[in-house]
Amino acid sequence: MLSRLAPVARAAPSVAKRAFSVSATRAYNTEYRTSEKTQSLHNFSDEEIMLRDTVRKYAEEVIAPKVYEMDESEVMDKDVIQGLFDNGLMGIEIPEEYSGAGMSFTGAILAVEEISRVDPSVAVLVDVHNTLVNTVVRHHGSDAIKEKWLPGLATDTVGSFCLTEPAAGSDAFGLLTTAKEDGDHYILNGTKMWISNSGEAGTFLVFANVDPSKGYKGITCFAVSKDMGVEIAKKEQKLGIRASSTCVLNFDNIRVPKENIVGEVGKGYKIAIEILNEGRIGIAAQMIGLAQGAFEKALPYTYQRKQFGKAVGDFQGMGFQFADIATQIEAAKLMTYNAARLKEEGRVFTKEAAMAKYFASVVAQRAAGAAIEWCGGVGFTRDTGIEKFWRDSKIGAIYEGTSNIQLETIAKFLKKQYA
Ligand SMILES: Cc1cc2nc3c(=O)[nH]c(=O)nc-3n(C[C@H](O)[C@H](O)[C@H](O)COP(=O)(O)OP(=O)(O)OC[C@H]3O[C@@H](n4cnc5c(N)ncnc54)[C@H](O)[C@@H]3O)c2cc1C
Repeated sequence: MLSRLAPVARAAPSVAKRAFSVSATRAYNTEYRTSEKTQSLHNFSDEEIMLRDTVRKYAEEVIAPKVYEMDESEVMDKDVIQGLFDNGLMGIEIPEEYSGAGMSFTGAILAVEEISRVDPSVAVLVDVHNTLVNTVVRHHGSDAIKEKWLPGLATDTVGSFCLTEPAAGSDAFGLLTTAKEDGDHYILNGTKMWISNSGEAGTFLVFANVDPSKGYKGITCFAVSKDMGVEIAKKEQKLGIRASSTCVLNFDNIRVPKENIVGEVGKGYKIAIEILNEGRIGIAAQMIGLAQGAFEKALPYTYQRKQFGKAVGDFQGMGFQFADIATQIEAAKLMTYNAARLKEEGRVFTKEAAMAKYFASVVAQRAAGAAIEWCGGVGFTRDTGIEKFWRDSKIGAIYEGTSNIQLETIAKFLKKQYA
């Protein structure tokens, strides 16, 4: 490598020298810190482990028997949702004073992972509710908003996050929903699309523009309750995560009191950027749980299924594939846990979150696809649930920023570091 650089340095010494010295200093500028005690990324607090174990038990005992039926009917079981509330899984980071569990972000990530290991549809309900809706209200809501909305979100009211519109997907800030000032209210008009949880939700965080002439600087976040007149125009029929409701919503002259503005007028774009950066770690968690779930469903079968006089899982050609996928799942887990810890430590995590989401969604598709093949024809049938993991995996590359958008984010950081 150095010998290839040398002639360039001779041809144009000043430019090449400058470029080389810049890259030499920036190539290693990842911020490392020392601590008294270094720990593996599989190190969790007692509380986090307890939460993970509780979620695993709930997922295996209560959710698992309903996964097939919920997927076929494309409806989330009401008792499953109630159980999530009863077990404190809808207010994981909400402080206890607002009836939440007061736990860490990593706790929420572990819960999403564990639920996704059994059903990625239920996992996205928990993820959107906790890491997007609850967090926006916790971080940006006034005291009055927190007092009014957080106890419900922690105990009985599903939340949804309404940013995307028919003409504003990856370019989310091109949204057309408007909020017109009218005395001590704003009047919302517009259509939102692809809104997760909206079929069950009572609380909607809606991004609307109070002054389209200001572009994205007019975007403002409103807390809206269903009874203000939110209309569910259509429920989408999807390839995967079919039990998770994804709807088109109409806001037709909805009067929202000014006190329902979350954060400041015109600062909604900042809220959306901030929350989607961290929400991506939740989607990465959904994807690593999914990959693990598919892997665990397939492997035992391969050690039972006999061909050519032995278990198919004992063929070296199979074992190497198991090892390869297991390695990729482990790498995606470590990236996800690392992004979560960086966020908790208050450090910059945007690039790491984008990398975790991007990679975890790739690994989820690979793991679920391989799991089907490892089980042969049986893996291709609906009753094993393995093909469902593969259908569910596709969404990881689409929502909360497509894979291209994650790569764009990562590339921006690289340019900042190396250009
Ligand atoms: C099941 C489901 C649930 C969802 N839940 C929610 C929710 O709860 N709340 C919410 O607000 N939204 C939600 N979304 C919306 C989701 O975030 C968007 O679908 C996503 O951001 C992509 O937008 P789009 O579908 O309009 O695709 P588009 O933006 O039209 O993208 C189409 C293609 O173009 C590529 N592309 C676009 N721009 C660029 C670029 N600059 N560079 C390179 N490639 C580019 C994309 O990567 C993609 O491959 C959900 C979507 C789905 C499918």
